Amino acid sequence: MAKKGRLFIISGPSGAGKSTVIKAILGKNRDLRYSISCTTRPPRGNEQDGVDYYFITKAAFEKKIDAGQLAEWAEVHGHLYGTSATYIDETLTDGQDVLLDIDVEGAKKLFVKYPEAVSIFIAPPTMRKLEERLAERDTDSPEAVERRLKNAEAEMAQAHRYDHILVNEELTQTVSRLETIIGKACFNG
Ligand code: 5GP
Repeated sequence: MAKKGRLFIISGPSGAGKSTVIKAILGKNRDLRYSISCTTRPPRGNEQDGVDYYFITKAAFEKKIDAGQLAEWAEVHGHLYGTSATYIDETLTDGQDVLLDIDVEGAKKLFVKYPEAVSIFIAPPTMRKLEERLAERDTDSPEAVERRLKNAEAEMAQAHRYDHILVNEELTQTVSRLETIIGKACFNG
């Protein structure tokens, strides 16, 4: 039987530097596929439809839920986010590794569906640092920043569920640790 791909689930609070780490790892590892989620959140800054997310309406999102097209979905910071079941299953069957960036609730569901997945939690060095990073980002309203901070503590409390916890003090070091985790998982698999 052909070798299946590996699933990597990455979570962590907004502002922990998750997206930057993910961009860097995708740039270094051409064989790793990124699962583009769909969301009802409006695009931020220079985010592009079909690149960062599939930006869809609430009605279209609910249709996907009803049709069973989502491997998981969750409401995060007041918006809906979901992962395409077909994309994950087809890509893994093709033998390609897939990386997901999803929240802790969505991850919990996938730990059950894909027990062989490798999970990584990216944490900020301190909550104060997280607050600074969110404020610096300047792409969210003050209310949105406030909501993300509140959620961060709840997300941090779920870190123990993950196979690996990476404290993102310094980008290069975090990316290199993640590279090691991914490399090892592929080698062992
Ligand atoms: P942001 O709005 O900052 O892009 O993402 C907010 C949160 O939604 C992040 O924690 C991110 O991991 C999560 N997220 C992104 N896509 C998905 C998804 O498909 N499913 C779930 N459950 N969470 C997602």
